[in-house]
Amino acid sequence: SLVLGIETSCDETAAAVVSRREDGTGDILADVVLSQMDEHSAYGGVVPEIAARAHVDALDTLIAEALERSGVRLRDIDAVAATAGPGLIGGLLVGLMTGKAIARTTGKPLYAINHLEGHALTARLTDKLTFPYLMLLVSGGHTQLVLVRGIGDYERWGTTIDDALGEAFDKTAKLLGLPYPGGPAVESAARGGDERRFDFPRPLVGEARLDFSFSGLKTAVRQAAEGVAPVSDQDISDICASFQRAIGRTLEDRIGRGLQRFKSEFPETHGVPALVVAGGVAANQELRRVLTDLCGKHGFRFVAPPHRLCTDNAVMIAWAGLERMALDLPADDFAFAPRSRWPLDDAAPALLAYGK
Ligand code: ATP
Ligand code: MG
Ligand code: FE
Repeated sequence: SLVLGIETSCDETAAAVVSRREDGTGDILADVVLSQMDEHSAYGGVVPEIAARAHVDALDTLIAEALERSGVRLRDIDAVAATAGPGLIGGLLVGLMTGKAIARTTGKPLYAINHLEGHALTARLTDKLTFPYLMLLVSGGHTQLVLVRGIGDYERWGTTIDDALGEAFDKTAKLLGLPYPGGPAVESAARGGDERRFDFPRPLVGEARLDFSFSGLKTAVRQAAEGVAPVSDQDISDICASFQRAIGRTLEDRIGRGLQRFKSEFPETHGVPALVVAGGVAANQELRRVLTDLCGKHGFRFVAPPHRLCTDNAVMIAWAGLERMALDLPADDFAFAPRSRWPLDDAAPALLAYGK
């Protein structure tokens, strides 16, 4: 089957055409993403009203471009999948309404997709990955450890109680006068830095629950910067390296506990269990190194989809639609309203009734 995917939940406008192979993985026929980064960078973050208008401006052209690149005509598409939440309501309205209009006029089914579900399932497009598996989503808006039991069947094991991890990188960068988005800037500044110079806090480390907390880290960074003012380039490098080390240690503890819990809940799982990472922060090499080592230690396979599929895109939305189609799960009603808040745990409660 062929699915047209549409993503507009945050600051990327995206359209994609994806198909599913016999072996259960996917083929990306077109993947178009327009980042609004430049429009928001002056404000140091995403401005909802600007984002919504930018989606309106760009979406039609992007969909046409995705179709053209894929060589697929609209009437050959089997279904439309659009992000219906969670995210900024203005953008969600633009994408979901556009998806509905295309589905309605072509007579094709519509899938209203949870953005987080898109992130959770992407790894199955590129890797032959069986359920259950653990997924760590680390982006600008989310930090979650999720048990993926099956399509539409997710259990959130941990989440941040304050800032998302990407947000911590962005705020730290801002404090240090580094450019937005902060993740790549902090990572490159950290190279050549002394990671032992500052002993930053590692919140919740040692606690049994699997949640995260990163706002204290940002405060510690501010204090460190004030303590050494005027801040030199070397100071910045040392702070960034120490910041990444604190995060690495925190994840080692938090995720390590998650892997142990997984093993105790699924002792009989066949084959090697997997930890999948998603979200923009997954680009970070230090984080990848820590997670790779951790997985090795606990006997897990570490799966990181290509960077382009880790950040926001429409491929993952189309893919979530394809996964539902492959199981003959029902499409969504045209009355489906976008949801700015939509926890993954109830991604598709209606689907569970069908017994997967
Ligand atoms: P969401 O997907 O939760 O709605 P988002 O659009 O902000 O939010 P992404 O586009 O997946 O999420 O990721 C962007 C985030 O990833 C930013 O916070 C950015 O700083 C961070 N990031 C990108 N590259 C790196 C890196 N190399 N190291 C650390 N963080 C990074
Ligand atoms: Mg983004
Ligand atoms: Fe995302």
